[in-house]
Amino acid sequence: MKACDLVIQNVTGLHARPAREFVNVAKQFKAKIQVQHGEKKVNAKSLISILALGVRSGGTIRVEADGVDEMEAMVALETAVSSGLGENHHHQEPSSNGQPQPAPAPAPVVAATADNLIVGLPAAPGIAIGPIFQLTKQTVAVRQTFAGAEAEKATLAAALTTAQQQLVALRDQMAAQAADEAAIFDVHRDILDDPELEEMVRAAIDNKQSAAQAWQSSVEARAKIMAGLDDPLLAARAADLRDVGERVLRILAGDEATGASLPDHPIILIAHDLSPSDTAALDKDKVLGICTAAGGPTAHAAIIARALGLPAVVSAGEKVLKLAAETAVILNGHSGTLTRNPDEATLTAARAAQEQEQAQRKAAVAAAADPAITQDGQRVEVVANIGNVADAQQAYAAGAEGVGLLRTEFLFMERDEAPSEEEQFAVYRDIAQALHNQPVIVRTLDIGGDKPLPYINVPHEENPFLGERGIRLCLNRPDLLRQQLRAILRAASHGTLRIMFPMVADLGEWHAAKQMVQEVQAEIGGETAVSLGIMIEIPAAALMADAFAPEVDFFSIGTNDLTQYTLAMDRMHPTLAKQADGLHPAILRLIHTTAEAAHRAGKWVGVCGELGADPQALPILLGLGVDELSVNVPALATVKAQIRGLQLADARTLAQQALQCRTAAEVRALKI
Ligand code: PEP
Ligand code: MG
Repeated sequence: MKACDLVIQNVTGLHARPAREFVNVAKQFKAKIQVQHGEKKVNAKSLISILALGVRSGGTIRVEADGVDEMEAMVALETAVSSGLGENHHHQEPSSNGQPQPAPAPAPVVAATADNLIVGLPAAPGIAIGPIFQLTKQTVAVRQTFAGAEAEKATLAAALTTAQQQLVALRDQMAAQAADEAAIFDVHRDILDDPELEEMVRAAIDNKQSAAQAWQSSVEARAKIMAGLDDPLLAARAADLRDVGERVLRILAGDEATGASLPDHPIILIAHDLSPSDTAALDKDKVLGICTAAGGPTAHAAIIARALGLPAVVSAGEKVLKLAAETAVILNGHSGTLTRNPDEATLTAARAAQEQEQAQRKAAVAAAADPAITQDGQRVEVVANIGNVADAQQAYAAGAEGVGLLRTEFLFMERDEAPSEEEQFAVYRDIAQALHNQPVIVRTLDIGGDKPLPYINVPHEENPFLGERGIRLCLNRPDLLRQQLRAILRAASHGTLRIMFPMVADLGEWHAAKQMVQEVQAEIGGETAVSLGIMIEIPAAALMADAFAPEVDFFSIGTNDLTQYTLAMDRMHPTLAKQADGLHPAILRLIHTTAEAAHRAGKWVGVCGELGADPQALPILLGLGVDELSVNVPALATVKAQIRGLQLADARTLAQQALQCRTAAEVRALKI
């Protein structure tokens, strides 16, 4: 027998997709493989059991393999875990609800009185107006009569085959609209194929339960365990298990219809909760928006709603289920509200807001290539956050005036060794060329304990976000940084490249990094002068901005990390993410300090965190003195359009008010 301890580094732990990857690797081997976490020890080939372990990021699992290919199995699992179990997006772009999404159009404000307003959580942007239709789940008849163990097992096998076929069809249909989200149906297929679940069901059938009874009781028993996990993200997977469970029960009951039967006119769908299958199967011509009583913005149903472009509100409470059929409502996916029986004036305002939103989006895209100049003549540079050459091409086409953040770590992921200098050179050169001489800020490798690279050996850390990451890691591995700097400096002659260092906390780090640039520059003998800047994403750097400013060429504020470190809230935390608001006055004060220090020294300051694309934050950031905004490619057009509608003088007044606020909520309540 072989055994080893592995640390799960995925930011959200061993959740659906990495767990699936782990199980699929285990299934390739004949050896009996078991995984222990805490007191629990389970079959490594059972997705449900692995999920039910509830392993969080940084958690250790003990893997034991016993059988002919135990050695190979161990190596394969170790490699799979250390290379991230199929997840390589260390830098997802968390929005306020923890899910990556493009910046919405400026949120239109729809007036409503308190007594007809139901407040939930925003799950997908947009406004929908229409009558409600409540989707009630028909309970599925579960046959109690027992036709003999062999007959029941054959019935179940046939139902599982049909369910597999349905899920393949659903995945393919979904893949056309949202490839990433379609993968959830592969997780569902693996649940159907789970050996432990199968064993449980077979045992129940041997105990004289019908196929339906056996299936229902086994799925429910497993779902209960999962729902009880104290990690909300993993607990949410109980919904996937029940979704799959119900699909099979329906097939067993001869009720093959999967899509909900809706009225023949457009509606706003109300439900207690929606399963991923329900959401994916919705007829988009009829459903204008979705409002659920339960569920959270990180549930798959919410993710799918965003991918389908359906405005959605979740967690609106049981009162939405008490609304009479066909009640007229306005659903606002920006604010997470439902206004019932709106009066004529509110309705007119909502319609106008809806039309304005659509028209704004269209106009913004049409004017994407034009500069962003405020009404009172202040030009703001709007540049893009990118990760590779394809992004660079898209950014240029979408109106980017350069690149404010090239996350070079994407180049280093999903491979067994660091990219060579030549490989890096070619990528930086191609990106520089794709931007046609516009400036490209290349951020040096920002990798760390939270997302290890298999070829960089970082010992296990209890708090990886407070560990060896960013510039700290690079300075401890000077060869890695030196090689990257050589590649960047050589590529600099093919365009306008700038260099930026991440996670700088201390002046000494900056000095060491700058010295290395000078040494490399002397080595390669390049003539091209390259601007050097640092990210301001650690509160210490913001507070010491006056010490850095005379020495650097620019600052770029990483609000994602600056928020995380200032509020001491994990940026990926499934429940805290909503509170981790970059508009907290504490963060605004740090941005203010940074901008003042930069300007006093005659330097410019940008923002490359998500906050730059938040329509409520944008005027405040400009008012605080931010000179450049670097945003995701889909947000470029709307950010530029919003700037064109602003007066810098008003933005400055707003920023001063924001600095005086006591909470993020107070800041968000301010009106320009
Ligand atoms: C940030 O922290 O705001 C930032 C832009 O860097 P990253 O998201 O890559 O950590
Ligand atoms: Mg950062």
